[in-house]
Amino acid sequence: MRLKNSLRFKNLILSLATFCVSAASLNLNAAEVNVYSYRQPFLIQPIFDAFTKETGVNVNVVFAKKGLAERLVREGKNSPADLIFTVDIGRLIEVVNKGVVQSVSSEVLANNIPSQYRDPEGNWFGLTTRTRSIYASKDRVDLEKITSYEDLAKPEWKGKICTRSGKHAYNLALISSMISHHGEEKATQWLKAVKGNLARKPQGNDRAQVKAIKEGVCDLSLGNNYYYGKMINNKEQYEWANAVHLTFPNQGDRGTHVNISGMALTKSSPNKGDAVKLMEFLSSELAQKMYSEQNYEYPVNQSVAPSGLLQSWGNFRPDTLALSEIAKNRKLAAKLVDQVAFDE
Ligand code: FE
Repeated sequence: MRLKNSLRFKNLILSLATFCVSAASLNLNAAEVNVYSYRQPFLIQPIFDAFTKETGVNVNVVFAKKGLAERLVREGKNSPADLIFTVDIGRLIEVVNKGVVQSVSSEVLANNIPSQYRDPEGNWFGLTTRTRSIYASKDRVDLEKITSYEDLAKPEWKGKICTRSGKHAYNLALISSMISHHGEEKATQWLKAVKGNLARKPQGNDRAQVKAIKEGVCDLSLGNNYYYGKMINNKEQYEWANAVHLTFPNQGDRGTHVNISGMALTKSSPNKGDAVKLMEFLSSELAQKMYSEQNYEYPVNQSVAPSGLLQSWGNFRPDTLALSEIAKNRKLAAKLVDQVAFDE
């Protein structure tokens, strides 16, 4: 009898425990969004926290440097992911081409994000823009002599330019835009001439090139604008930033090349309603302001002013070439990099 009672008690405890676990998971299922992110968590976590505060919906983030698109393919319809976050239009299109995202039709997103920064079909949406700028030595460069990407090809810069690999997504997008504007032949000539002007073999990241300018290795480099903000706010790197001007090329004609960071809704999204809510929140004024202040990127939402620091760098006109156009030339851009042996 005693044994029977204790068994009954155990069963009661077990079923209570099961009830608690399923209640907890029910609760989580009702109010969570799962994000796969190539963007580092510290950049987006504060913005997700603001979303949770406003809506009560939790955001879980899986961060990885690569392989998330492949993971979505592998997981198929059982994937827990709702959204994927990445930088660079090429990587966004890659996710779309793998067939793991779905189209979103949202008036809020259409109002907040200019058409040039989102997929006409609704498969991806830009959240921030960043310029591919030319950094120029304060001491050694006359800014009037370097006002465009085309100027980088001039013989006067022989041995004066530093850059990261031509195959990096940021440079591939710039080269793609050169193909769009000038055609393959002229773009190849330009790339070859820039290669001929390099001070050293392409290496390191964007900030390493600014360091090289500070050290006198070169006078000009290519780099995204937000690294200027990061260096200014970094004790060790402040002196690198202080050695250069950040410039916005091609203000006299088509405008400066910009790329985006962006997001897409996964095909299998288990929490679609809340996921779209998060997408809309990220395009809102509050989130856009946070992006600009914390990561020195430009808001895509045109009713939000860039942060004070960004404004202090001056206004610029962005190239209005559609990003989908840039993505189309990506493969050819990579081919040209090989053809002119840019990285060798
Ligand atoms: Fe970056």
